[in-house]
Amino acid sequence: MSHKRLAPVFVGHEIYRQAAYGTNHPLAIPRVAPVMDLCRALGWFGPGEFVASPRASEDELAWFHTVDYIDALRQAAESGRVDIGTRERYALGTMENPLFPGVFERAATSVGGSIRAAELALEGRIAYHPAGGTHHGRPGRAAGFCYFNDPVFAILALLKGGLERVLYVDLDAHHGDGVQDAFADEARIWTISIHEQGRWPNTGALADVGGGRACNLPVPRGFNDAELAILLDDVVLPLANDVAPQAVVLTCGADALAGDPLCSMALTNVALWSAAERLAALAPAAVVLGGGGYNPWTVTRYWAGLWGRLSGRKIPASLPAEARAILGWLRSDLVDDEDVREAWLTTLADAPNEAAARDEVRVLRDRALARAGEAQWRQATCAVAVDEGAAG
Ligand SMILES: [Zn+2]
Repeated sequence: MSHKRLAPVFVGHEIYRQAAYGTNHPLAIPRVAPVMDLCRALGWFGPGEFVASPRASEDELAWFHTVDYIDALRQAAESGRVDIGTRERYALGTMENPLFPGVFERAATSVGGSIRAAELALEGRIAYHPAGGTHHGRPGRAAGFCYFNDPVFAILALLKGGLERVLYVDLDAHHGDGVQDAFADEARIWTISIHEQGRWPNTGALADVGGGRACNLPVPRGFNDAELAILLDDVVLPLANDVAPQAVVLTCGADALAGDPLCSMALTNVALWSAAERLAALAPAAVVLGGGGYNPWTVTRYWAGLWGRLSGRKIPASLPAEARAILGWLRSDLVDDEDVREAWLTTLADAPNEAAARDEVRVLRDRALARAGEAQWRQATCAVAVDEGAAG
């Protein structure tokens, strides 16, 4: 099923210009700010296309998170420190989830942005919120660099809007565990995650179907464009069509790209742009979020170009000087200077990767289809159809 192109909107905020995550953390790199700057430099924000993210209220945060955790994060952020009990109970003030000035406001802004994105999607827009995608956050604790779980809030806002069939697709290199688990008992939500096998949090095995409406596709290192095409065409899109979603929420972590220093997938941004476009077109409402991504050049090019594609712009073959300067300012402790490719500074679109698909990915496809048949994916979608028939 394909729908007409939805009117695009970019949800962003200046708060993402502030330093975050301290000094020695993979996310202590600028990501959303250079994406906004690059889009602006390319003239890609037309009238009404950029919307400032609101900050979620504490009442809104409590849609998913426990009040004691919300209080603990606010108090820890205000005092700048945690006691041992708080650190252990809430995973705050750790190497993984450090405290830094503005951490509460920043995390609450990403939640507010995803709620706003969902509201805009309900108006028939395709809402792009690259600061979102904190898919590991738990109701009562931080996890995997995520303090809150903004994709959960986008989905909850869609449910509050009255939708009954929402599809979540997670293309980040890590399993979308926090989102899958949040909706394991929710009959209105289906989740699909493509992620690198053997990577933290080491969940999301093929056999893991959550409450029956989860599909997990753990892929091998070096996962390439041809392999993504197979999984999309043969597994993800057919399963999505079974759901006939009223809205799609996508997490587009940039750590699935070749060149990411923490992960070992080998996708091009062009393949991921196409995947996101095809998935967003499955429903009359779409929320497109960011996620992980630890190479500031590949993150910025992917997410700026994703806005270009979603909003119908032509991707320039070569970037103008002002755009090159933005990429030229980026720095990373995790990428050696000699590994910074010329193309990361002068272009947006990656060169094609012609690598062939491997047999192990075809085996994964076949097993995933069998698994979805055994699990409740189809029964669940059939039950929806029966319910609607009975009601109508
Ligand atoms: Zn990730």
